[in-house]
Amino acid sequence: MQKSTKSIEYQIHTTNLPANFIQVTISFETIKKNPILKIPSWRPGRYMLQNYAANIRDCRAQNQNGTFLPVTKTDRNSWQVQAETGMTITFSYLYYCRQLDAGGCWSDPDLFYINPIACLMAVDEQETLSCILQLNLPSSFIIGTGMPKESSNLYVTGSFLALSDFPIVASPTLTTLSYTVQDIPFYIHSTVDASHFPSTMVDDFKLFTVAQINDFGTFPEKEYHFQLLIVPYQHYHGVEHRNSTVICLGPASDVKEKLYPELIGICSHELYHTWNICKIRPSEMLPYNLFEAQYFNTGFVAEGITTYLGDFYVALTNVFSKKWYQEEFNILLKRHFYSFGNHHLSIADSSFDLWVDGYEAGIPNRKVSIYVKGAIVAFLMDTAIRKATANVSTLRDMMLILWNSYKTDGNGYTEDSITALFHSITSNQYVEKFPHWIYGLGDLKEDLLDAFAHLQMPVDEVSHSNFFARHFGFLCDTSFTIQSVDPDSPYIHLLGKGDKILRINDLPATEFSAEQIHEPASVFIAYTNGIHIKEIDLNISDVLYFKTLQIELTEDSKLV
Ligand SMILES: [Zn+2]
Repeated sequence: MQKSTKSIEYQIHTTNLPANFIQVTISFETIKKNPILKIPSWRPGRYMLQNYAANIRDCRAQNQNGTFLPVTKTDRNSWQVQAETGMTITFSYLYYCRQLDAGGCWSDPDLFYINPIACLMAVDEQETLSCILQLNLPSSFIIGTGMPKESSNLYVTGSFLALSDFPIVASPTLTTLSYTVQDIPFYIHSTVDASHFPSTMVDDFKLFTVAQINDFGTFPEKEYHFQLLIVPYQHYHGVEHRNSTVICLGPASDVKEKLYPELIGICSHELYHTWNICKIRPSEMLPYNLFEAQYFNTGFVAEGITTYLGDFYVALTNVFSKKWYQEEFNILLKRHFYSFGNHHLSIADSSFDLWVDGYEAGIPNRKVSIYVKGAIVAFLMDTAIRKATANVSTLRDMMLILWNSYKTDGNGYTEDSITALFHSITSNQYVEKFPHWIYGLGDLKEDLLDAFAHLQMPVDEVSHSNFFARHFGFLCDTSFTIQSVDPDSPYIHLLGKGDKILRINDLPATEFSAEQIHEPASVFIAYTNGIHIKEIDLNISDVLYFKTLQIELTEDSKLV
């Protein structure tokens, strides 16, 4: 390859290396003495710091004469090469690819899958140069990627930021289905063959694609790639990119039937991100800075609205029955009402704190999920817009306004601009409620009841089906380890997350079944927090815990 200060050249090799390693070679002419190469510290779609550097070993640098140059670390994600200005440097390292999820990398003799953001380094101060990527894969490998292709196995992007946003999947058995909407080709690449999917899959994908494009009027990209990693074990993960998405889903044996609604739902969600986050984006992240945390409070727009409307578009297309959407909605309500973090941190502050522990359960009830409470808020916004405009407009129209605004000026939105837009569409009818939804605490039960009444969705309040959750306010998993305690439970001061119930009424907990108890006055348990063993009598009263709202979608309901 021709070396030039106009581009950075990347090569990836996968053969004759230790298992699961790839070799990355980066060649560039340095514009300064002692240049620095750096790996991103996070990736768009997951707003938390990553540790990609931990997958890197055997860093080496050479000049144009093949002389080795000293390499030293300057911080956790940066490597400095001792070199003179104008030298052509070849920097290489091994990267460990054994994380098969929608944001990771994997390499074995049958599958090559990378997120360039996780495994490729940028050259500091030369990030805006075009990047040439040569993939040296076995000749039998079929490649599926949205990255612009120059020639066989050679790809060119305009900058490191662009390079970082095109995941690559390749295998000797990669299968690709396709369809076209408004002359835009959509590809569905899969690591398993088409027999793993229903025969209606392409038609079903087309339906939600058409529905979304119809609402926005235009599609932001020239082509789009769904990259499906179908795995043998249980997994559910998707990540959005500018003209593609990676979906990691399993077990493969369930994808055709049981998991099929999940596949359609997650693909609809990720496609919606093509507008909402890849283009319509918080001003704090425009442009992305991959090397520093970028805090933002508007996660309810990026993930809440996408979660709500992702499922809504599937419901609109009638691929699945109304009962399916009702069930999805009720799962959302359960996740919302069982999240007692609602009483401790607002959705705006929880968005900011994504960088702290946003993707982990974390300590009890510290925060809310921007996906779950975000989708609840999106539903309230949708209903408010319908109500204030006599059903002329919906939340989808608000998103169209944001899209048109982005197309006009290319700017990001702010908390203030979203608030102003919502108030303008709803004629200032929610100036008190909206700040409470975004910046306040609470489960918004009364607002939800109002919304369900307006949309003629019958609603019930029900408590958890689990015996201990319902009667005593603590929820155990199947191994009787406590996962969550309702703050209203009389045992909140005794039982905590992670405690394990050992015995119930003198039976080992594992032999217990709730049917053995017929309206008892009390239940005796022995439990441990790992240090001490304690015993308590649990007294049954009329009070029930872990309560949620459950809706019904009838013929008269006005949501879809
Ligand atoms: Zn998302």
